[in-house]
Amino acid sequence: MKNVYQTIHTQQISEGIRKTLENLSSKVQENIRRYPFLIRYARELRAAKIEINNNFQYWIDASISTLEKAGIPVFLAKDAKMARKIIGEIIETGKIVVKTKSMVSEEIHLREYLQKLGNEVWETDLGELIIQVAGQRPMHMVVPALHLSEKDVIEILKKIGIHGNNAEDCTLKVREFLREKFIKANFGISGCNAFSAESGSIFLIENEGNIRLSTSLPETYISIIGIDKILPEDDFALKSIMVQSAFFGTFPPSYINIIRQRHPKKMYVVFLDNGRKKSDEKLKEQLLCVRCGRCQLECPVFQITGSVWGGDTYGGPMGMGWSAITSSISEEVYLSCICGKCKEVCPMDIDIPNIILYLRKKYLLC
Ligand code: SF4
Repeated sequence: MKNVYQTIHTQQISEGIRKTLENLSSKVQENIRRYPFLIRYARELRAAKIEINNNFQYWIDASISTLEKAGIPVFLAKDAKMARKIIGEIIETGKIVVKTKSMVSEEIHLREYLQKLGNEVWETDLGELIIQVAGQRPMHMVVPALHLSEKDVIEILKKIGIHGNNAEDCTLKVREFLREKFIKANFGISGCNAFSAESGSIFLIENEGNIRLSTSLPETYISIIGIDKILPEDDFALKSIMVQSAFFGTFPPSYINIIRQRHPKKMYVVFLDNGRKKSDEKLKEQLLCVRCGRCQLECPVFQITGSVWGGDTYGGPMGMGWSAITSSISEEVYLSCICGKCKEVCPMDIDIPNIILYLRKKYLLC
């Protein structure tokens, strides 16, 4: 709680969120107006995800079977520790690893773990790289460095020998810096925006092109997939990434990557449970989330605290449910004002206020 209260006085966080919201809110409205089918997609997606939630083991088995038939080594990690161990044993030590922005990898603290094993690990999303070098945690799951000014970024990047004069100059220099890492990397790691059990395809969206490079250039690629990302077939996976990007405000995304096989290069898939399968009926509702981040930006509490409020990995209103599923319930559930804005803007119609009220009762019983 102390950190959250301190954050309230950090104007830079609320400024960054306000600017991001101003920039994206009208784009979300425009997306819904121009492409009304997105609402239908979200409804269909919700129904498909409810079916997956109710039969997790069936869909996990189906996904594993599809990947194994394609000759891809696949693992199911019951928790964060097991996922780290599996990935650590594949990568071992002394390697160069390029990573894409992934909340599931934040959830298991993968970068820090691989670094401790003696590997050189680089985030390749610009915002996430800045956060890595600054030694901070992402302030928003889609825009991790929204709280940092141009001046801050210029100073932070100096730590890795990048001396830029302004944002544009820094971006160009980071691009050169990362090009060398992509070429030298032994391993590429990504999360997954949606997974199709039918085809075994991993769907990833991005705007920078770094996912494309991280998943194709290194000799070996590892994808970590939260089991909530499993969908029955390609059609739903495609709808999921469309809903996710449209309701964040960047639609269509600059790049859509669909990864199935990587012959002759190697590929591994690690599914992560970490509390998802055993979620009770109320918390299962949170698993319908496509992680568009809209509820965060629109939340009046998040607008002054950013991701400092909500949990170790997932912040803001959606972070309450996700933290309870993947780690624990904190007393921060009492900082929500239960205004209902999060539910109103959620494309998946997740009743977040109801989840938070439920967690308050559970917290008292802990
Ligand atoms: S809870 Fe809803 S609005 Fe929030 S990130 Fe998930 S899908 Fe988006």
